[in-house]
Amino acid sequence: MKALLQSTLSTTLGLFYPEVCALCQDEPAAAEGGFVGTKCRQFVQLVRPPFCQRCGLPFQGDLTTSFECNNCHDMELFFTYARAAAVAKTVVLDAIHHFKYSRALWFENFLAGLLLGEAVPVLRGQNWNFIVPVPLHPLKQREREFNQAEFLAGQLSRAARVPLNTKLLRRVKVTVTQTLLRRDQRAVNMRGAFAIRDGVKLNGEKIVLVDDVFTTGATTNDCARALRVAGAGEVCVWTVARGL
Ligand SMILES: [Zn+2]
Ligand SMILES: [Zn+2]
Repeated sequence: MKALLQSTLSTTLGLFYPEVCALCQDEPAAAEGGFVGTKCRQFVQLVRPPFCQRCGLPFQGDLTTSFECNNCHDMELFFTYARAAAVAKTVVLDAIHHFKYSRALWFENFLAGLLLGEAVPVLRGQNWNFIVPVPLHPLKQREREFNQAEFLAGQLSRAARVPLNTKLLRRVKVTVTQTLLRRDQRAVNMRGAFAIRDGVKLNGEKIVLVDDVFTTGATTNDCARALRVAGAGEVCVWTVARGL
């Protein structure tokens, strides 16, 4: 049903939107690729080693041994690892902003494509029980009418064949926007922002958390905290993009 809906959506979008790149309006692009053409895709910077094995922060240089960055040493982290598909810059950041704040839903396939390309090969080789999107606060969700993380998590769930679970976590605190906050302020702002739904019991489950962007990790870390406190055995994080 979801696949049918999606193909209907693509067809409908194809009727209303000419098949040109939605970012530069200057090259052909198709619905399957989220209306982003090859020229614009050249600006995508995929996250490649070396990067911090804990938080996925890319690192300049020839380091071949595994390492943890200074930020990770200073933080109490509740996830085993966080990885992102691409660096949150240029076309990737533009597409995320349009997708999230201007309801430019046609970018979903572009963003999901990046995430799936990097995450599916890794997740298939591991043993995960659920994919859980970072939830929005109900007030935010009503205002935005969709949760971008849930769209991305749904596509990842189907491709990686790990069940989607949108019933575990909820956002209990309306937080101020993180954009203007420093790293330490972000952690304080997010503390206690997420909780497990009443009546949910976990028993060592391994959970993949999905969000659009990872910046300092304050959001995903608080989700991971709530899941671990409730009994999750392990939490990892996958996002489309990674702030530097
Ligand atoms: Zn373009
Ligand atoms: Zn790190």
